[in-house]
Amino acid sequence: TKILGIETSCDETGVAVFDEQEGIIAQALYSQIDIHAEYGGVVPELASRDHIRKTALLTEQVMSEAGLTKQDIDGVAFTQGPGLIGALLVGSTFGRSLAYSWGCKAIGVHHMEGHLLAPMLEQNKPEFPFIALLVSGGHTQLVDVKDLGDYEILGESIDDAAGEAFDKTAKIMGLGYPGGPMLARLAEQGVAGRYKFPRPMTDRPGLDFSFSGLKTFAANTLRDCDGSEQALADIAYAFQEAVVDTLMIKCRRALKQTGRKQLVVAGGVSANVSLRNGLNDLMSKVNGKAFYPRPEFCTDNGAMIAYAGFCRYKLGQFESLAIKAKPRWPMSELR
Ligand code: ATP
Ligand code: MG
Ligand code: FE
Repeated sequence: TKILGIETSCDETGVAVFDEQEGIIAQALYSQIDIHAEYGGVVPELASRDHIRKTALLTEQVMSEAGLTKQDIDGVAFTQGPGLIGALLVGSTFGRSLAYSWGCKAIGVHHMEGHLLAPMLEQNKPEFPFIALLVSGGHTQLVDVKDLGDYEILGESIDDAAGEAFDKTAKIMGLGYPGGPMLARLAEQGVAGRYKFPRPMTDRPGLDFSFSGLKTFAANTLRDCDGSEQALADIAYAFQEAVVDTLMIKCRRALKQTGRKQLVVAGGVSANVSLRNGLNDLMSKVNGKAFYPRPEFCTDNGAMIAYAGFCRYKLGQFESLAIKAKPRWPMSELR
């Protein structure tokens, strides 16, 4: 079985082919960062237009790189939601039309299920059931993954997502867009203990998160500091430490509450080295194990959509040819 996967939910156009025997056999990724950077955030209409320019091109590129023709493909998977409506419509319209013209199945994929299943593309992969911490630009969720497609959301952010908090704080600190990875790099130069940020919502029971207060705290700390390079690095350090610590506290709680021993971490922020170190420590302490996607599959990509599409294909779940996209789509509805 071979599935073509297409991701266009936000500001990355990603295309890949997953082969049941060999795994990901070809992939291409185009990031629109340069287009949105001058606006300091994703401009939805520019995103849709650029997906239109790139999707077919990348598909041709991936098919030729894989040495495949349309007869070889069993299904075309595309991100159906959640995400930006215009961007989603490009991938789902293109994907469905391609499936129709190639005479194969059309498979609508949930973007967050794509992130959640990305670690399955690694040698070292988890087995169901497990706890998933999804930390991306738009989501911070703790999910009890009972089985493929059987997801219970245990907790989520009531305001900013973890990645969003990184990006907004980086913006306040003048680090550019998207600032998450830059803030993480700056934090490497920081000294521990100079600033102490709060650990939001850890002093009460429950598994929800709130990260919007951290950017305000960063803004205030920045205003009161001496403005030196070192102070900036120390603020970045303290901010990152607070996010990582907060995520760790809630992961520990979720594991304890459910008795699970495996933790999957996925989404853009799962590339963060400090978070990985912290969670690896935590998991070895509780005699468990943490699983991550390779760094390039933490942020948006076509490979995770091809793989999630493959899983849905195996379950016999296909789409009709009616075009639809779901900008809002709770993952608990996938059952
Ligand atoms: P969603 O998946 O919720 O729809 P998205 O697709 O925009 O949102 P991703 O592509 O999964 O999000 O991840 C992008 C986010 O990850 C950005 O907020 C980015 O700053 C953050 N990010 C990427 N690398 C790092 C890193 N090393 N440290 C912290 N944050 C990071
Ligand atoms: Mg992105
Ligand atoms: Fe994403």
